This record gives sequence, C-alpha cells and structure tokens, in this order.
Amino acid sequence: MKVDVVIIGGGPAGLAAALSCHKHGIRDIIILERDSHLGGILQQCIHNGFGLHWFGEELTGPEYAQRFIDQVEKAQIPYLLNTMVVDMDEDKTVYAINPKHGPIKIQAKTVILAMGCRERTRGALMIPGGRPAGVYTAGMAQRLINIEGYMPGREVVILGSGDIGLIMARRLTWEGANVKMVCEIMPYSTGLIRNIRQCLEDYGIPIRFKHTVIKIHGRERLEGVTVAQVDDARRPVPGTEEYVSCDTLLLSVGLIPENELSQKANLQLDPVTGGPVVDEYRQTSVPGVFACGNVLHVHDLVDYVSEEAEIAGYGVWRYLNGLASQLTRHVDMRAKIETGYGIRYVVPQRISGEEDIELFFRSDNIYDEGMVELTDGQKVLASKRFLRIVPGQMERFKIKKQVLSGIKPGGRLLIRWRSLA
Ligand SMILES: Cc1cc2nc3c(=O)[nH]c(=O)nc-3n(C[C@H](O)[C@H](O)[C@H](O)COP(=O)(O)OP(=O)(O)OC[C@H]3O[C@@H](n4cnc5c(N)ncnc54)[C@H](O)[C@@H]3O)c2cc1C
Repeated sequence: MKVDVVIIGGGPAGLAAALSCHKHGIRDIIILERDSHLGGILQQCIHNGFGLHWFGEELTGPEYAQRFIDQVEKAQIPYLLNTMVVDMDEDKTVYAINPKHGPIKIQAKTVILAMGCRERTRGALMIPGGRPAGVYTAGMAQRLINIEGYMPGREVVILGSGDIGLIMARRLTWEGANVKMVCEIMPYSTGLIRNIRQCLEDYGIPIRFKHTVIKIHGRERLEGVTVAQVDDARRPVPGTEEYVSCDTLLLSVGLIPENELSQKANLQLDPVTGGPVVDEYRQTSVPGVFACGNVLHVHDLVDYVSEEAEIAGYGVWRYLNGLASQLTRHVDMRAKIETGYGIRYVVPQRISGEEDIELFFRSDNIYDEGMVELTDGQKVLASKRFLRIVPGQMERFKIKKQVLSGIKPGGRLLIRWRSLA
C-alpha cells in the first residue's frame, strides 16, 4: 500500500493531526491504532477538566476524544483498529500487523508519530522488597477501575504526585478506599496545582514532600510499605523510617515517550524529553517524519496536544506541497535552541525563523518573579515575564519571526530564566 500520510496512534494527537492534514486538503491519510477503539488514554480518563482551552468548556476525557472521533468520521478519514505498528524504516516504510489483514507494509510519503507515552514502573525505581500483588502504576489502576470495573485495593499509599496519581487518589476515595498518603520525593508536586487542590486538599489526603518508599512488605499480597524522608540528594535519612500498612501501592513516578519506533527509524532523540528532536513544524531529524503529543514530550493538558498536532499537520502539508525550503527540509541545518539556567527542556529544539513560532518549555525548579529570555548569545531577542514557573506545568513562549530574521542555519540560541526577585 502507498499513501501520502501514515499516522501512528489514534489518540488525541493522532486524531487532531489527521484533521489538520484533512483541513489542509490532504486526502490520502491512514490512521493506525493498536487498540480496539480510537481515543487513546482519554478513554480511561473519565474525570472532567479536559477541553477548557480548546473548546472553552469542561469535558471528560471520553467526551473530548469523541468530539475528535466524530470529526474524523465525518471527514471519512480511514483508520485501522487493532493494528500494531511494529517497525518503521528511515525511508518511511511502516510495518504493521492486525488480525484481519495479517502483516501490512505501507510506503508513506510522510509519517506522523503519535504513539503517546508509557508509565515508569517499579522496575525503573528498584524499590527493595518482595514482588507481592497490589503494586500498580497509577494509569493501570485507573484502567482497572474506569474500564474493567475492578477495585485494586482498599488501603492505599501513592508514590509520586504526578497528575495521574493525584487523580487516582480522589477516584479511589470516591470508590470507598482509604488513601493514607501521597509521598513525593521532590520538595514540590510534579502535578498541576489544580489537581493538588481538587484531588488531595478537598479530601484531606496528606502529601509528604521529600519522602519516598524505601521498602515493600508482603509475600502474596502487599501488607505495607516503609516510607522515609530524603535529603537534598534524595537519599533516605536514617531514623525517619515509618511503616505504613496498606494493601495497595500506586506508582505515579513519571511518563516516558513511546520511542521504540523512533529509535528504529534512527531519529535523533532529546535526552531530556525522551522524544525526538523536532523543528517548529514538528518535523524530526528524518525529513518527512513528524511527531506530536506525548510521544514528543509529556503534556499535562490534552488541549496543548491537539494544538501541537495541528502544527504537525500543517508541517506535513508544507512538506508534501514542496513548500518547505531547502533549510526547512533538514532539521539539522536549523538554529539549535539550547537550554540555560532554570530551563529543563524546550520544544521545538530547532528553528528556521521563517514564521512566528511558539516554544513549549518546562522549568527545572520552582522560580518566582522573573523573565524567560531567548538570546543569541549576545543580545536578548525576546522575553516573557512570569510570576512563577513550576516543573509540573508546561509553559509557552511566543516568538515573532522578525526577531529571528538574523539567525543563521546551524546557529545557536539560548533559552534561560532571569530572576527579577
Ligand atoms: C491518567 C491521565 C490523566 C490525565 N488527565 C488530564 C486532564 O485532567 N486534563 C487534560 O487536559 N489532560 C489530561 N491528561 C493528559 C492527556 O490525556 C494526554 O496528554 C493525551 O491523551 C496525550 O495524547 P496522545 O495522543 O499523545 O497519547 P495517547 O492518548 O496515549 O494516545 C496514543 C495512542 O497511540 C497508540 N499506539 C501506541 N503505540 C502504537 C503502535 N506501535 N501502533 C499503533 N498504535 C499505537 C496507543 O494505543 C494510543 O491509542 C491525562 C493523562 C493521563 C495519562
């Protein structure tokens, strides 16, 4: 099969990217989704809080997804469900498999990666102790309760204050469980501030900052965990150990972009985000391969995923119509944006300066009162004032193309925090 655009993943990123391509007049598209339904992770996010930016109203995850699914159906964009993409070459040959057609080989002119992300597990943390039942990632517990209809346990400790863990603290409380505490190794939460208020404070669930789980107890079923305070180097402080009895431990300790296919296609990856390095059109280091959504960097709001997917669709249209200049066809020829003081990562990491752009970034700590600046090493090209930036919240920074007019192919820019306090 030969197509103009293959979209890998039918979650919010893949759906919005397909609609963006369609809006730009592209018709030869196919979405490949390994699940039996479109909608991605939103299918299990039955809480509200989605769509405030995109639709200006509060929707649940399935409602948000359905709006995009309806548009995809209306536009008659083809998709294959139960279809797992297993391999991809640099020349944009995509290999997939499904129970109806068996192995499928598709030669694409462009590919949009929209595979989302996966949760870090206990194995990644190497917490000592046995391997009893009752230790789950927060997203797995969410799936069990919201889709399968099972209750993972009754007495719960949550490790990590990422959004999924916070949302699950409230969800388990609603279902009658006793959520004893949330432990967070950092001195601040990695989740959205609104989720701390709405999911913990409203229900009197304590959060212990600078605490972690140092041992798992139990043989067949979890019986308890030992928690301890940590020092500034995140090492447990002797003498602060506390045994907490529980039958369930939920881990909400970070998400990692699904990057196996990106690696197979030899895409350049960003060591901080774990996703591909992209330019302002979300084109990766392989011309014609684009990426958006959580496969690129982990987003806290799905609305921003949809926005980013629109940009990727526009990039595909430019590429297919020969509108990408020599400069914009090769991501490595573009100016590189490096991160300076206070900034953990920035996306896109390369820019051409041909159009106005928006930078998405996260801080490496909590900072109050200051400016985020984009400099060319000598002078400040653009700046934006922030009252506070926190690592749990992705921030945005618009840059006008006029200020980028002098940047050279292969040049270097720096994004950094400057305190005004
Ligand atoms: C528990 C949880 C709670 C959240 N709460 C909120 C909230 O309250 N408000 C908010 O705005 N946002 C929230 N978010 C964030 C938002 O849901 C995500 O940012 C968004 O769903 C990411 O979209 P995506 O399309 O990139 O990834 P996903 O939704 O993960 O979709 C990726 C899709 O790709 C498919 N796929 C992966 N690999 C392959 C392959 N090899 N072949 C074929 N298909 C593949 C997957 O099956 C999946 O359907 C939450 C996220 C989670 C996990």
